[in-house]
Amino acid sequence: MADKKTILITGAAGFLGSHLCDRFISEGFKVVGMDNLITGNLKNIEHLFPLADFEFYHHDVTKFVHVPGRVDYILHFASPASPIDYLKIPIQTLKVGSLGTHNLLGLARVKNARFLIASTSEVYGDPLVHPQTEDYWGNVNPIGPRGVYDEAKRFQEAITMAYHTYHGLETRIVRIFNTYGPRMRLDDGRALPAFMHQALTGQDITVFGDGSQTRSFCYVGDLVEGIYRLLMSDYPQPVNIGNPVEITIKEFAEEVVALTGSKSKIIYKPLPTDDPKQRKPDITRAKNILGWEPKVSRSEGLKITLDYFKAIV
Ligand code: UDP
Repeated sequence: MADKKTILITGAAGFLGSHLCDRFISEGFKVVGMDNLITGNLKNIEHLFPLADFEFYHHDVTKFVHVPGRVDYILHFASPASPIDYLKIPIQTLKVGSLGTHNLLGLARVKNARFLIASTSEVYGDPLVHPQTEDYWGNVNPIGPRGVYDEAKRFQEAITMAYHTYHGLETRIVRIFNTYGPRMRLDDGRALPAFMHQALTGQDITVFGDGSQTRSFCYVGDLVEGIYRLLMSDYPQPVNIGNPVEITIKEFAEEVVALTGSKSKIIYKPLPTDDPKQRKPDITRAKNILGWEPKVSRSEGLKITLDYFKAIV
């Protein structure tokens, strides 16, 4: 047990954090989960509590972070991640990406740990380059409603790269595109949980704008594999991880209606401010450097996710 690698995962009770906890437990790591439970849910990790190799700290990483003993890796996944969350808690969103990242970088230095941050396709804003490659610098409105998330994540990348350059810290940056799967919050306001919830409860499906905006949805299992490979690589530059199969939001809503067999009808609501018009990752870098590409088709992934939502709705 003493020679087990230890990994600290912040945002452990969230959608992605909890899947990462599962993965690293199954890889034989000792996992230390941390979460302030503002948007996370202990139900996502309660199955891990009986395990000797899992420990949980209820802690806000914007405050000084202390973890006793050995820490070999840190994954910083704590952050509100859905547009309605960061509208409700904009200051916390800014703080967890900035102050939280600074605290964890300090911890990584003290522990001599490898540090990986969850960045996002939002660093590209409403992109003028399509598909998005990692060398595109983005088109972000810093003072718009999404600015609190986008700029926190951009700052997070900047400070992480600075610690790499000036302190020689081993760092990794994953830019995560739209991801879905079990353990998404039913009420997090994002397109997939909203559409599935509406379809399963017979409510109208709310498509924002005319539904011609595009996204590219990656199944969570594929994303976790990409993150695992990136962490184990020696590559410090940002890497897009996402599924490059692009779909309009209107088509996506129609797919959910068809899959659920729902009688719900699609209605149209105003498009939120600064809602990106198109988004699709260029994953050439992930393919070349990590040998990674997504394996789970949307139809397969949506079926698994629907079973999850059926059970909790
Ligand atoms: N969207 C929608 N109806 C909803 C929720 C979201 O039409 O009930 C749209 C949203 O405007 C955006 C897309 O679906 O264009 C994806 O939104 P989401 O919040 O899932 O993630 P984003 O990629 O915008 O961060």
